[in-house]
Amino acid sequence: MAKDSKIEWTHHTFNPWWGCTKVSPACKNCYAEAWAKRVGLDVWGPRSARRFFSDAHWREPLKWNREAERDGKPRRVFCASMADVFEARAELDEWRGRLWQLIPQTPMLNWLLLTKRPERIARSVPWHDSWPHNVWLGTTAENQRWADKRIPQLLRHAQAAVLFVSSEPLLGFLDMRSYLPAPGRRGIDWVIAGGESGGRARPMNPEWARDLRDQCTAAGARFHFKQWGHWSPEQLGVDREYRRIEVLDRDGRPVILARLGKKASGRVLDGRTWDQVPSV
Ligand code: SF4
Repeated sequence: MAKDSKIEWTHHTFNPWWGCTKVSPACKNCYAEAWAKRVGLDVWGPRSARRFFSDAHWREPLKWNREAERDGKPRRVFCASMADVFEARAELDEWRGRLWQLIPQTPMLNWLLLTKRPERIARSVPWHDSWPHNVWLGTTAENQRWADKRIPQLLRHAQAAVLFVSSEPLLGFLDMRSYLPAPGRRGIDWVIAGGESGGRARPMNPEWARDLRDQCTAAGARFHFKQWGHWSPEQLGVDREYRRIEVLDRDGRPVILARLGKKASGRVLDGRTWDQVPSV
């Protein structure tokens, strides 16, 4: 299947604009901000302008939709990797409006709207009780505090085809049990977890990822392990001298993490990859 995004869990990425403002610890080492700076753009923070795009950019999803129709296979589009669709800025409303028109025009694309501002969803989307069938709505939960703030907001939008949580970077143990599916309750359909990448990455204790996977498996939610990130459990195999730190497993035994870098760290968790995606 056609895929032009390097992000494992999506086929395409679409950005209605570039630029954002940091809101929580997950944003500390925002890769999108670093990337924008690298290409010479000052589009981060409340006082900076945002970058907008031409009609040609907005026609791209129409092309992906035609290709998906031709292949007879829906595709996933991550929106947005360089912004937050629900950021509160008046000049973004026009571009959001364009996005809300585009989504129902591309029925073969499943739109993954991932936000750290789920409290703004209801006032931003125009669909009320009749949502397009191709909206997958997600929020970030990097630690328990932000899980408990954001996930209840997300769960209000049961009209979305898929409700998902991105726990990347995963910064602590997460007890998600009250948000996952249970008899008589829909809950979160899909959890994506991963460690942070980049030179300033904060290490992820492997137990945090294991525990989240086990909660998802027990509840019947889909689980996707995206990456270890910059720090990796040493037992994955290291034959050079890397910086190391020690964390404790759930029984209090030490686990060594080595600073291998994202590529070498890979994405194998307990002997296999976890690539589950909801089927709709
Ligand atoms: S919300 Fe997302 S894009 Fe915006 S600063 Fe945070 S991590 Fe970066």
